[in-house]
Amino acid sequence: MKKGILYIVATPIGNRDDFSPRAVETLRQVTMIAAEDTRHSRPLLQHYGISTPLTAFHEHNERQVMSRILGRLDEGESVAVISDAGTPLISDPGFPLVRECHMKGIRVSPVPGPSAAVCALSAAGLPTDRFIFEGFPARTSQARQKQFQALLKESRTLVFYESSHRIRHCLEDMLLVFGGDRQAVIARELTKLHETIISAPLDDLLEKVKQDANQQKGEFVVLVSGAEKRSGDTLDSETERVLRILMEEMPLKQAAAVAAKISGGKKNRLYKAALSWVEKESGQSG
Ligand code: SAM
Repeated sequence: MKKGILYIVATPIGNRDDFSPRAVETLRQVTMIAAEDTRHSRPLLQHYGISTPLTAFHEHNERQVMSRILGRLDEGESVAVISDAGTPLISDPGFPLVRECHMKGIRVSPVPGPSAAVCALSAAGLPTDRFIFEGFPARTSQARQKQFQALLKESRTLVFYESSHRIRHCLEDMLLVFGGDRQAVIARELTKLHETIISAPLDDLLEKVKQDANQQKGEFVVLVSGAEKRSGDTLDSETERVLRILMEEMPLKQAAAVAAKISGGKKNRLYKAALSWVEKESGQSG
């Protein structure tokens, strides 16, 4: 018997008009919609005239409901999964079900739409060529700081979800670990009436949030610029200053060795940096 299809359907993250026609049509066609919170989804579905039966499918009953969904799919019926907002499985339930479908040879088909992380990234003004999505940071300050420490040297743009209860403390911990100069963005209430996107160094950003209670309300995506990659010939400004002075007084190798002793840096790295400056400067003058 031909098996049904499991559709993973994205719903709006605020603005109802972001519901795609294909998402609406798919939800009308399936025989059952597994929704994270049926009370939350019902008004949206009613607004679009979708009367397909709804079943609650959340992290507390995921295993139980999963077997019912798999049973339906085995019998050839198609089922859709939706979450409260955005793309299911992205910091939302559904992963065990999708994995099980793959193992059982049941087709899983995504019906794409909004996701707060990508939506925020597209408008944040931080590099988007490479990014990592970290979901919700840990709930306690100690665990959060540990998590951020592990990301300190990460050069890709960091993307987090955060709730209104923790936004301020989260930014305080980010400031502590990444430093006040690191550029960050909070994207709040995306696609909704009070949408705001603020980009600033972490110390300014925290100050703005502290001073405006409205900036602590709603839903947030927090993005942090990746750590700057130090290329071979980039040194911190003090080491560079010392090395340049020494280069005027002694041979390159010796200057690198002495500067390494003063700065605590690696002799080889300093030598390579000095060499690259000499090459660059002789290229410019020649
Ligand atoms: N699956 C959803 C998605 O694809 O975006 C995310 C679900 S997660 C449980 C909910 C979190 O997403 C919120 O706490 C917030 O961090 C972020 N989020 C959802 N909607 C948002 C919006 N309109 N503006 C900013 N952040 C939002």
